[in-house]
Amino acid sequence: MNSHTPQLDSAALPDKEKRHTKAAVKREQDNACISPAELEQARRSANMAAIHGKDTKPEMVVRHWLWSHGYRYRLNYPRLPGKPDIVMRKYRTCIFVNGCFWHGHGVAMPPVESLKLKVESSECCKIPKTNRDFWVTKIRKNQERDRRVQHELAAMGWHCITIWECELKPKRQKKTLESLAYTLNRIFLRDHSIRRYEIQEEEPLIAAEDTPETYGQKKT
Ligand SMILES: [Zn+2]
Repeated sequence: MNSHTPQLDSAALPDKEKRHTKAAVKREQDNACISPAELEQARRSANMAAIHGKDTKPEMVVRHWLWSHGYRYRLNYPRLPGKPDIVMRKYRTCIFVNGCFWHGHGVAMPPVESLKLKVESSECCKIPKTNRDFWVTKIRKNQERDRRVQHELAAMGWHCITIWECELKPKRQKKTLESLAYTLNRIFLRDHSIRRYEIQEEEPLIAAEDTPETYGQKKT
């Protein structure tokens, strides 16, 4: 999600052409207030940062699939909390396509008061051994933000679907996207059937007068 771009990474990872000059490295260190070791760590994580932005490949996979199957959506809808990656108004659903590393897929964070507890890496989120505290804090913040945003959206009546990067790898992609379609259709039917039920309650006579040909069909 583009709104999650971590501050250190943007400060420590300069434009390609500036990356190798000594002055640029010095400037990065000064700007970011981090040690050379941390800077090096951030640089080695450049590939992780590269997939952590707008139009990331996993997000493109989902978008392409949705579009080609007739689903329509909006991107990074600015008026909703957390600027969701994909917003489907017809389904009142927000889809978040999360990078496993940045959002700590499968990583259980101990509560803040027990920060000393060791945080274990998961299969798809390997927390670097160097500067581990830095990365743990960053991932924890992202996880907390994800939860907060989804609570806010739920309170506004939106459904939230999270798709993990690892679920979009070639072997798992088909199953994941089929499951997404199933979930979207279930959401639509459920919301739709509640509305129909309310109409029948309010207007029992009209419902009873329906001819067999039109019975059960959606009124337009
Ligand atoms: Zn994962």
